Amino acid sequence: MSEQQKFDVIVIGAGPAGYVAAIRAAQLGLKTACVDAFVGKDGKQALGGTCLNVGCIPSKALLDSSRQFWNIAHNFPVHGISVENPKIDVAAFIARKDKIVKQFTGGIGQLFKANKIMPFFGKGKLLKGNSVEITGHDGDKQTISATNVILASGSVPIELPFAKFDGKTIIDNAGALDIGAVPKRLGVIGAGVIGLELGSVWRRLGSEVTILEALPDFLSVADADIAKIAAKEFAKQGLDIKTGAKLTKAEVKGEEVHLTYEDKDGAHDLVVDKLLVAVGRRAYTDGLLAEDTGVKLDERGRIVVDEHNHTGVDGVWAIGDAVRGPMLAHKGSEEGVAVAEWIAGKAGHVNLDTVPYVIYTEPEISWVGKTEKQLKDEGVPYKVGTFPFAAIGRAVAMNEAVGQVKMLAHAETDRILGVHMVGPGVSELIAECVVAMEFKGSSEDLARIVHAHPTLSEAVHEAALSVDKRAIHKGN
Ligand code: FAD
Ligand code: AMP
Repeated sequence: MSEQQKFDVIVIGAGPAGYVAAIRAAQLGLKTACVDAFVGKDGKQALGGTCLNVGCIPSKALLDSSRQFWNIAHNFPVHGISVENPKIDVAAFIARKDKIVKQFTGGIGQLFKANKIMPFFGKGKLLKGNSVEITGHDGDKQTISATNVILASGSVPIELPFAKFDGKTIIDNAGALDIGAVPKRLGVIGAGVIGLELGSVWRRLGSEVTILEALPDFLSVADADIAKIAAKEFAKQGLDIKTGAKLTKAEVKGEEVHLTYEDKDGAHDLVVDKLLVAVGRRAYTDGLLAEDTGVKLDERGRIVVDEHNHTGVDGVWAIGDAVRGPMLAHKGSEEGVAVAEWIAGKAGHVNLDTVPYVIYTEPEISWVGKTEKQLKDEGVPYKVGTFPFAAIGRAVAMNEAVGQVKMLAHAETDRILGVHMVGPGVSELIAECVVAMEFKGSSEDLARIVHAHPTLSEAVHEAALSVDKRAIHKGN
């Protein structure tokens, strides 16, 4: 038997958590391997996990293309531009997305080469004693070992037992990023981030989109004022969002899906041509752990870790969607960096309280920190400052003067506790607030910082001023 290859670090999973952990570990001089099982559309290994292959990047590519198309009819005329009979070539629309995905997944391969990270293609299983058994897609097995193993196996879509994915009519996120022709009627189950983003894509291309959401409140994870503004804008775009509507049955009949959902008025029927089930994601640990590793899973199937992402088993760490905390790429990446640094004896740092959230709809939604409801529930005294984009010159010039910035600061110390936005470019504007919160800044700090004019960032500045009732361009 050939001698087992030995590494300082083996990472299982090459998503944004795992590949970043591998790169940082290699930068720190650790001999690193990364095992990944993802197979791309072309049947070949594709690094980058959910995010690069069927998540963040492809969804943003389609959101951008569909936005351009939507603007021709809905925004151009205001600017005095008319285009007759615009058409969308869906094959080209999808091919552009595929090209971007390939560029980025290929890029990770190059980064691995540059950092001398050894990639392994196949399914990794942690064995007791920090060995990893890799089963290739041809069934071949090999075992490698390391001083440290980082589990970064990510997440997969949750399937409803009565609406199982068939990849054609009842689809998940990957399916919704690859529809070959604009469906006349698209049903979406779940008005979460993925349902709203992918529902928007196909609505903009002309689908009649109905989104069923079981919870009574729309986007209850966001601040209620922000969710209310967003709901109004989505309704104007023709997204039919039904809250308090729980899907109970889905039957594929020929080319259609016949749905039954229940709300406070009883049971209703709905017929659609495609059904996107986007009811959340679950940590993916299938086949990841041999029985005797000692690594524990919680009641939601997530790998149990402490505040340093350590599993409690010597040399075994876990990061990203597979562990507690928000299922976001940047959260996983930061954990990846921190774990590599902890392994190398350095001081890693991840602050889950300042992870920014972004929904890339139109208008965009973003936030960091606590919502007003959370502060109320926790009995924290707070002040509120708001500022509408309608009073921001740049937003009006762009014909995108919708939404607002809302800032929450402690009533006594003025420390910023949360910032919530809906409007143009708020995916970028939130970064300033994350920095301010990470530095334990106050609303006065942001109010005293010079913001360029005319920019969208003036809305953040004015919201900070408004906390102290001294916004300049609105009544306080
Ligand atoms: P993953 O990206 O899921 O990667 C895990 C990898 O591990 C996969 O390649 C998997 O095949 C592999 N793997 C699993 N088990 C094994 C094993 N045993 N052996 C070998 N390999 C294994 N987040 C954002 O921050 N911004 C966004 O805009 C955003 N948009 C999204 C849009 C969509 C449609 C979806 C579905 C998700 C989106 N997300 C977004 C979430 C984001 O994709 C995830 O939070 C992120 O990918 C999690 O990273 P990860 O590395 O933990 O896991
Ligand atoms: P997220 O976790 O952000 O992706 O959002 C998923 C959403 O799907 C949540 O808001 C759930 O309330 C919703 N959901 C889950 N099951 C159902 C169901 N059977 N019918 C309608 N909505 C559902």
